[in-house]
Amino acid sequence: MDFSVSEKMQTITQMIDEFVQKEVIPLEPAMLTRGFKAILPELEKKRQMVRQMELWAPNHPVEYGGMGLNLKEHALVSECLGRSVLGHYVFGCQAPDAGNIEILHMFGTPEQKEKWLPPLVAGKIRSCFSMTEVEMPGSNPVMMDTTAVKDGSDYVINGQKWYTSSSDGARFAIVMAVTNPEAHPYQRASMIIVPTDTPGFNQVRNIPVMGEAGEDYFGHGEILYQNCRVPQSNLLGPEGSAFAIAQERLGPGRIHHCMRWIGICNRCFDLMCARALTRPIAPGKTLSQKEIVQAWIAECAADIQAARLMVLYAADRIDKVGAKAARTEISMIKYVVANTMMKVIDRALQVHGGLGMTDDTIIAFLYRHERASRIYDGADEVHKLSVARQILKKYAGKKTD
Ligand SMILES: Cc1cc2nc3c(=O)[nH]c(=O)nc-3n(C[C@H](O)[C@H](O)[C@H](O)COP(=O)(O)OP(=O)(O)OC[C@H]3O[C@@H](n4cnc5c(N)ncnc54)[C@H](O)[C@@H]3O)c2cc1C
Repeated sequence: MDFSVSEKMQTITQMIDEFVQKEVIPLEPAMLTRGFKAILPELEKKRQMVRQMELWAPNHPVEYGGMGLNLKEHALVSECLGRSVLGHYVFGCQAPDAGNIEILHMFGTPEQKEKWLPPLVAGKIRSCFSMTEVEMPGSNPVMMDTTAVKDGSDYVINGQKWYTSSSDGARFAIVMAVTNPEAHPYQRASMIIVPTDTPGFNQVRNIPVMGEAGEDYFGHGEILYQNCRVPQSNLLGPEGSAFAIAQERLGPGRIHHCMRWIGICNRCFDLMCARALTRPIAPGKTLSQKEIVQAWIAECAADIQAARLMVLYAADRIDKVGAKAARTEISMIKYVVANTMMKVIDRALQVHGGLGMTDDTIIAFLYRHERASRIYDGADEVHKLSVARQILKKYAGKKTD
């Protein structure tokens, strides 16, 4: 595997690193104290600067105003942007819009693409993805209660979803609902585009998560679909193909998530080292002189490097053999990187002592916010089971000395 970085990507990542450090990270204290919504005007100014630098929407198609970077290139960008919790938003490649853009681009009809892609890629509107249900296991979404029943030329949708992230202020949702209850379990559900101003699309609340009320882009909505009627032309992809499309959305998307998490690791690691070097712990001594802290630093450095190389290897496998054949590598990075990140955040918090628990640094926010990484996009346990199954298959019936 070739780890060299092209000159083009070296230039791009250097520009992004500098911008994140100089323009984006300084907005974080205001976000932590005043909330995301209060800083939207400042964020919009930064987004404008990014557009002028021609670094907007790095992963999105050129024909819709993005930079058209490939998977590995955007992985490097995602690592740089992950250093700030606002990075992906400021550069127009934030979840869940990024995944929605990908599937609209791959499966949308010409009319759907024309209507939704230009404003979405341009950052003029936002969207959300509505799969997980309150009463059913998100880990096994073939058990889905939400239905979309044909009536004339419409679908009528009924169901209760939650964790529809960023629904607050979104212009449309991509909803997963059962359209073909008699079909094979993996062919029962479809994806349907539902504008959020459709009667019957009811945002009940932003769910409070880890002490945060949640608002706007940083909210997680609970949505009640009550006789929510949309034209059948809002079907995304063929009927019954929701699971197949969801796989397309999640596979390569995990590379971006994982590289964002590596960016978070790098940020926390820098904060940890800087604090250890400056915090006096005894007359004439700093924390960095304590062997236990040195061991944490050495361990974290190795863990981050190992996790990063695993992600780049998985991206390389996707490029060479496709997402389906690389599913073991993709599952592995999901739990390895999430757990590495949580360990690095925890160590950084520990080294900061009481300061680490406050919102005077970004660490406590990351500690709360990123715990979810071990749950969404497939919980640790689900990925581990899948990896073990693939491995054991290779051993079945084989004689091992
Ligand atoms: C911050 C955040 C953002 C999210 N954003 C979105 C979004 O935008 N759109 C959306 O649709 N959903 C979203 N989700 C929901 C997410 O996809 C689900 O929470 C996830 O799929 C797990 O489903 P569940 O919560 O129903 O847990 P369950 O399915 O009830 O599982 C609970 C736990 O059981 C264990 N478990 C599950 N299956 C197995 C198994 N086979 N073997 C052993 N143990 C198992 C795991 O530890 C798991 O954490 C988000 C969640 C969070 C926390």
